Amino acid sequence: MKRFKTLTAIVLASFMAFQMVGCGGSADQTTDENASAEESADVENSEDKLVWATNAEFEPYEYRDGGEIVGIDAEIADEIASRLGLEAEVADMNFDSIIPAVTSGKADIGIAGMTVTEDRLQNVNFSTPYINAGQAIIVPEDSDITGEDDLVGLTIGVQLGTTGDLYVTDNIADTTVERYTKGFEAVQALLQGKIDAVVIDGEPAKAFVKLNEGIKMCDDYLTVEEYAIAVSKDNEELLDQINSALADMEEDGTLTAIFDKYLGDGEDTDEAADSDEAAEETTAE
Ligand code: GLN
Repeated sequence: MKRFKTLTAIVLASFMAFQMVGCGGSADQTTDENASAEESADVENSEDKLVWATNAEFEPYEYRDGGEIVGIDAEIADEIASRLGLEAEVADMNFDSIIPAVTSGKADIGIAGMTVTEDRLQNVNFSTPYINAGQAIIVPEDSDITGEDDLVGLTIGVQLGTTGDLYVTDNIADTTVERYTKGFEAVQALLQGKIDAVVIDGEPAKAFVKLNEGIKMCDDYLTVEEYAIAVSKDNEELLDQINSALADMEEDGTLTAIFDKYLGDGEDTDEAADSDEAAEETTAE
């Protein structure tokens, strides 16, 4: 399966991804992921619950359908909780509050299309990665921008504190970076002509382009990244349990079924992010 490589292969590949994703120094981080978790949703943690922190603005990984939070990560969270004999409870919050929520114990885990980075590893442990991803570029339909080189000197919208934010800030010269709390707000700004492009993870980018007329995605991806589950450094036991649940879910086809349900035709980020082109661009720094 191209979409989901074996966990072992992903682990081997992860070192490479750390180098690529973590290329910016921690000194000029755009957000402080140790900041207070004040904005975290008000959810009571208890022993029979698995509270998972997320930011439900990230289709197809986590988004609202009616009142419910659904998506790939929601299903993974439910499945892991049930395999651990726990009840999954979601805590929806800003993306940059997720790691503080996990470190403070407000949430047990963070599942949010969250990329493994060296900086985040200072604060939390990550499970075995469950899927690959990459940063995509969204531009107006009539734009001449085709890839990274064309972004130099432009005004680019990103989601605050994400790997898209870090990549643009650290790697693209002379840009004005506009940071939004939600990816949706960046796309709105693009539609209103306030910014020249949006850099955001590939699958949400596809969802935004599908939902809004007048914008398109560039073919090239800027990074190769891996999504994993954030767990408190104080809870090695939970990390082990999650890794063994994930391994079982890979083995028995549960993960593939979840990915198939939301990613459909196999034309997904992983394939694009796997392309030599994307990998070369990322390692070129
Ligand atoms: N993958 C990106 C990151 O980890 C964005 C995640 C998100 O916005 N939910 O920074």
